[in-house]
Amino acid sequence: MPIDATLPYDDQNIFAKILRGEIPNRTVYEDEWSLAFHDINPQAPTHILIIPKGAYVSWDDFSANASDAEIAGFTRAVGHVAREMGLVEPGYRLLANVGIDAHQEVPHLHVHLFGGKALGPMLAR
Ligand code: 5GP
Repeated sequence: MPIDATLPYDDQNIFAKILRGEIPNRTVYEDEWSLAFHDINPQAPTHILIIPKGAYVSWDDFSANASDAEIAGFTRAVGHVAREMGLVEPGYRLLANVGIDAHQEVPHLHVHLFGGKALGPMLAR
């Protein structure tokens, strides 16, 4: 079910549980600000989720309320993971769903990183 991105942060969401180590994940990168791990239901040969460690519901919440250090750290982590996965030269796609129309399902900010094949047009027509 898509979530309303204006609701308060729910610390029982699945990515909060992953951050607390209560649920396993296939980590590809971790630093002070961010965790990156394989999506459980990949939509491309490479499908990584990158999340900030702070409690932010969505890109909207994060961009409005995170500190400059959190935003810089998270942004650098996204770029770092793409480079480490060898995706810069072939290319890759970033996607952050926010709220109901975008079908955001997990109420903790996550950026999807897709790659490993030609990804086609941006949205289904
Ligand atoms: P959204 O629709 O919120 O942008 O995307 C949520 C993503 O989280 C989906 O691609 C889904 O496959 C992934 N996901 C949901 N639960 C889990 C989980 O427990 N572990 C991992 N690794 N991914 C999950």
